[in-house]
Amino acid sequence: MHEMALMGEIVQLIEQDAQMKKIKYVKKVELLVGTLSNVLPDALQFAFDVYKMQANNCLTMNAELIIHIEKAKAVCAICGSQYEPVTKIAQCPACLLPSGNIVAGETFRILAYEGSLTHENYIGS
Ligand SMILES: [Zn+2]
Repeated sequence: MHEMALMGEIVQLIEQDAQMKKIKYVKKVELLVGTLSNVLPDALQFAFDVYKMQANNCLTMNAELIIHIEKAKAVCAICGSQYEPVTKIAQCPACLLPSGNIVAGETFRILAYEGSLTHENYIGS
């Protein structure tokens, strides 16, 4: 399950950034995951929960994970039709050729995270 490794990197990146910005705790982490990115949202959520459980005093230990799904989109190089491909080899529904260029759906990145500089409004679990 490569989601564990991915999530580890994400948590580490956010922790480092949050420390630099003197953030006291992270409230929310938002990710953008494409349907063709080979990353499973459920597995990501699971990995995040595992990291939070293992974490002692880390900034993300009470953060909420929000996963935004990016729908796949392909544009046919021959006829220009746009459609939602099911696999990375995108077959145009009009030409029936694997002529689609994937323009969306392969994304996997941190969209944003939200932190607080103070401990007020802090609700620990
Ligand atoms: Zn076409």
